[in-house]
Amino acid sequence: MRFAITSKGDSKSNTLMHKMKSYLLDFNLIYDEEQPDIVISVGGDGTLLYAFHRYSSRLDKTAFVGVHTGHLGFYADWVPEEIEKLVIAIAKTPFQVVEYPLLEVIVRYQNGGRETRYLALNESTVKAVNGTFVMDVEIRGQHFERFRGDGLCLSTPSGSTAYNKALGGAILHPSLPAIQLAEMASINNKVFRTVGSPLVLPGHHACLLKPVNEPDFKITIDHLSLLHKDVKSIQFRVADEKIRFARFRPFPFWKRVHDSFVAD
Ligand code: NAD
Repeated sequence: MRFAITSKGDSKSNTLMHKMKSYLLDFNLIYDEEQPDIVISVGGDGTLLYAFHRYSSRLDKTAFVGVHTGHLGFYADWVPEEIEKLVIAIAKTPFQVVEYPLLEVIVRYQNGGRETRYLALNESTVKAVNGTFVMDVEIRGQHFERFRGDGLCLSTPSGSTAYNKALGGAILHPSLPAIQLAEMASINNKVFRTVGSPLVLPGHHACLLKPVNEPDFKITIDHLSLLHKDVKSIQFRVADEKIRFARFRPFPFWKRVHDSFVAD
């Protein structure tokens, strides 16, 4: 089996990365940064987000597992003291795989029918570059509302515990093939009105954002932030692709939520 390891880059994560690499080579696994069957991310959730984007072109062939060197992560749930156990489990393949849904984002531009497609593991946010953010929101081909405010956040179920949670969104179990639309500081008064609640859309419902005036936006895809000019529309839906996590022991999602947000 071929493996790769990505590190957060700090000395603790790098030391752990070198240790795991040497243990796994001792078990006759092959180190292959280009075509790994398993990617071990050492650091935090941010390190796993980076690993996901690095290997997003081979999601059907690569499984991910995360070790955290800081606080408990949602994707990075192994502690440094457990790496010997983890290495033995990886070496004893085949391993169990759990799949989580992803968000597909398609940005279409005004000139020439050009479009760009992205996959997000956590979320995509859209904000104005200048002035108030104004967008027409369509759901499943029907006009839903004209949103005015700071921006909108579309998240995956596993990303629902990240930015979405800070916006008052619900936490969704990652076994649900759905996406969630959450508002960022909407303007609501006698003139302007939005629904005001987060919406959860099933796999067969797309959400389309159409600029009303200003066509330039700051769009984030997980930790990546890009300026998009002359935007015609932005479409969000549950992606056909999924992320595959290698599972070597049970760590139920609701326990992770409890341990991260309620108490250890
Ligand atoms: P970062 O390392 O500063 O991460 C921010 C925090 O988000 C970290 O504590 C990380 O553990 C946590 N996190 C990431 N994914 C999570 C998840 N699925 N569930 C629960 N917590 C999660 O920044 P980064 O590495 O660039 O990470 C980018 C992420 O930061 C974005 O995907 C977004 O979700 C998050 N973010 C959150 C806020 C907010 O809560 N107000 C604002 C901006 C970005």
